[in-house]
Amino acid sequence: MTLESIQSNHKEKVLLALLPFWDPQIPPLGIACIKSYIQQAGYNVKAVDANIEIQFREIYDRYFQSLIEIIPGNKTGNLYNIGNQVFRNHLMVHFNHSFDDKYVELINILISETFFSTVNRQQVKALDAIIEDFYRRLKRYVLDLLVRENPTLFGLSVYGDTLASSLAALKWAKEMNPGIKTVIGGGIFADQMAPGSPNLEYLVERTSPYVDKFIIGEGEELLLRCLKGELDDERKVFGLQDTGGHYIDIKTMDIPDFSDFDLQYYPHLAHFGARSCPFQCNFCSETINWGRYRRKDTADLVDEFTRLYRRYGSQLYMMTDSTLNPVITALANQFIASDVAIYWDGFLRADKHVCDIENTMLWRKGGFYRAKLGLESGSQRLLDLMDKRITIQQSENALASLAYAGIKTTTFWLFGYPGETEDDFQKTLDFVARCKDNIYEADCNAFNYFLTGQANSDEWLARNEGVLLYPEWAGEMLISQTWVLNGSPGREEAYQRVNRFVQHCKKLGIPNPYSLEDVVHADKRWRELHKNAVPDLVELKNSDTYIDESRNIKTLSFAENTQEDDEDWF
Ligand code: SF4
Repeated sequence: MTLESIQSNHKEKVLLALLPFWDPQIPPLGIACIKSYIQQAGYNVKAVDANIEIQFREIYDRYFQSLIEIIPGNKTGNLYNIGNQVFRNHLMVHFNHSFDDKYVELINILISETFFSTVNRQQVKALDAIIEDFYRRLKRYVLDLLVRENPTLFGLSVYGDTLASSLAALKWAKEMNPGIKTVIGGGIFADQMAPGSPNLEYLVERTSPYVDKFIIGEGEELLLRCLKGELDDERKVFGLQDTGGHYIDIKTMDIPDFSDFDLQYYPHLAHFGARSCPFQCNFCSETINWGRYRRKDTADLVDEFTRLYRRYGSQLYMMTDSTLNPVITALANQFIASDVAIYWDGFLRADKHVCDIENTMLWRKGGFYRAKLGLESGSQRLLDLMDKRITIQQSENALASLAYAGIKTTTFWLFGYPGETEDDFQKTLDFVARCKDNIYEADCNAFNYFLTGQANSDEWLARNEGVLLYPEWAGEMLISQTWVLNGSPGREEAYQRVNRFVQHCKKLGIPNPYSLEDVVHADKRWRELHKNAVPDLVELKNSDTYIDESRNIKTLSFAENTQEDDEDWF
């Protein structure tokens, strides 16, 4: 059945949305996949992303501008990253509690536990006025949307940063129409609300009057069953185990349906070639939520990209696969053989085959645009503690090989991992200084501890090292508890390292772009550093221009110092 020929043959009308605040780098892929799947079963589905609304972006900018004004400059770190923790929690406090002394006390704690700086009542009041304005705008937006679409099922894709606005929206929806079915799915169940966490239990209990179903992990089949009335009315939480072992055959899925989104606002489109992770670590939410690893045939996947290009005109795609290592060479070869130039990025481990310039040049010819690398640390001792199973030399060689081919290298760093010493941290600073010209961008975060879902979770839990970060009474206002590990380095030290790393990268000229303007500068730097640099983002975003330069990239001669790709990939 083609999309065009679909006629709704059910009385249900489904509205799927992603609410603020989420950085709209791509249209919501999860919603686009579910829309496509449910439509094939004959349902009428509307998809919405509220994050492209200027009125909400303006709120976000105002809040962060206010933070800049009240936090000392040497403590702001990478503000738009760590500040999100304060912002998302403030949104939740406002949703649950009216302005009083406890409110002021909690916002102060939230700010001081992230920026290690205090604020006065007047400053909290000023921040609160922005949040108040946001909820006023959001309510009008959501109620208008519900009146316009008149759905029988309202489903939200929810992440930590969108939880507060999503709960507010579902509550308003139930007040307006008690008969509407309300459903939550999405990445929220990957960390703080992971299955097995007391936070999830509390969330379900607290939101019981207005959230009907929680769908954990792969959402297509469970939402379809919900629409067909096949999910137990008495239960709230459903996961893979409730599909009776029926994994979706991703090879037969239609391409994501982005037709409801205004695509001019997004720098990239998104697609995926696999679900779950090939490594299947039993503690990891990727394994728990998505089950066994499944991937599409490479030829079919390239054909899907071609169809996406023909339908939406975008040449640039973010791939959401947990890792591209097993498929990247086959995928690049397939793209080289295809008749459309597609540029694509994705997560990559710094495995040995990434250190081989012949490989990275081949990937570049095939349109590989950006590697997202979780390098985490420049200390081998730390990488071993994290069980990363890569060496510092591999990280360095991988950056060099990718940069030689002009592929952007987005690097992620982590500070405050249990056991990280000043010497380990210094090694990271030294590593970054050594490799600076091969790093397109550097983003970092302080270590967050979750009760489940991390490599050493069982060990930490058994040693009972987790303590509450915020006072116990705050749990009710935040709808969740946050635990931290009671060890070394402490939280303040970890955030100081974030600040020091940010300053270090600034001095070295390594960007961490957030706005489009920042990206333009970062692209210019990359082009000046690397003659094989991939095209600029703004060039690729311009759908009036067709760019096909990758296949003409010249393979320059190079020394034979590369390592053999000896991984046995599938
Ligand atoms: S921890 Fe990493 S490697 Fe292991 S399953 Fe999760 S995503 Fe894959």
